[in-house]
Amino acid sequence: MSRGLDNLKQQYIGRFAPSPTGSLHFGSILAALASYLDAKRNNGLWLLRIDDLDTPRLEPGADARILAGLEKLGMQWDGDVLYQSQRHEAYSDAINQLKSKELLYNCHCTRKLVAGKPYSGTCSQLSLGTERQYAVRVKTEAEPCILHDLIQPDFKQNLNKDVGDFIVKRSDGLYAYHLAVVLDDAYQQISHIIRGADLMDSTPRQIYLQKMLGLKTPLYAHFPVATDLYGAKISKQFGAIDVLSTNQPTAILFNALNFLNQKPDSNLLGATVDDVIQWGRENWILSNVPKLPAIIAPEEFLSQK
Ligand code: GLU
Repeated sequence: MSRGLDNLKQQYIGRFAPSPTGSLHFGSILAALASYLDAKRNNGLWLLRIDDLDTPRLEPGADARILAGLEKLGMQWDGDVLYQSQRHEAYSDAINQLKSKELLYNCHCTRKLVAGKPYSGTCSQLSLGTERQYAVRVKTEAEPCILHDLIQPDFKQNLNKDVGDFIVKRSDGLYAYHLAVVLDDAYQQISHIIRGADLMDSTPRQIYLQKMLGLKTPLYAHFPVATDLYGAKISKQFGAIDVLSTNQPTAILFNALNFLNQKPDSNLLGATVDDVIQWGRENWILSNVPKLPAIIAPEEFLSQK
């Protein structure tokens, strides 16, 4: 639980968990807004976590710019910000827990060798030791995992067949995203995870780790990702909006509400940021969000940068 919120028994706890690899962009604003509004519409808490584990990808100062951007867009988080970089001990404990259940093995296969295919389990037979730092994989099961998403249709994945044993600690010694996210969501007592549908494919891995570590599974809702005209996800490299320098924060929020099919009143375009956020808090309807994996972003977010 974030400091400052101890002892608070809350039914709905949502979160926004950006990676500080750049400034906020239309895709991350959607994740912030959808998770914020769903939490507030349900009288919940909205926590902020900075996913700063992948040190080679971090951009100095991006975390401060994300925080300032959220404030400019009128989204105030509850409690203190949690940084993944402060949580190494918890990740290491979880690795030991999985190890004691004999669920882990060392692996020397390179990313190039695996090439996006389900991992075949080659190294599970090798008992690689401590000669050097290897990646660590968790053994998966053949049981199908069915995700009952709050927005998208049910999603079924057979981890063993579709993904294979996956990495929980990388060969460079960094803890993997799936492990950290699961431990932090449990630590912050997150009940609802609202995020982009590009992460849907990752969710069964996270549900599996929750099961193996004896953690509760939160509810998940995956909204359509914003893409360019060719179907590529809007990223920090393309479609980045500089929220801090824009003089039209209201228009950004309006566009995001519209993208999420919340049918914002057009007179909100002339309103203040606080008015738009207030309108969202009162009128947010999760079931209005399109049940689609992806939608093309509004034009003004395609031409930037
Ligand atoms: N930090 C991840 C990202 O920015 C999102 C984590 C999550 O929502 O599970 O893509």
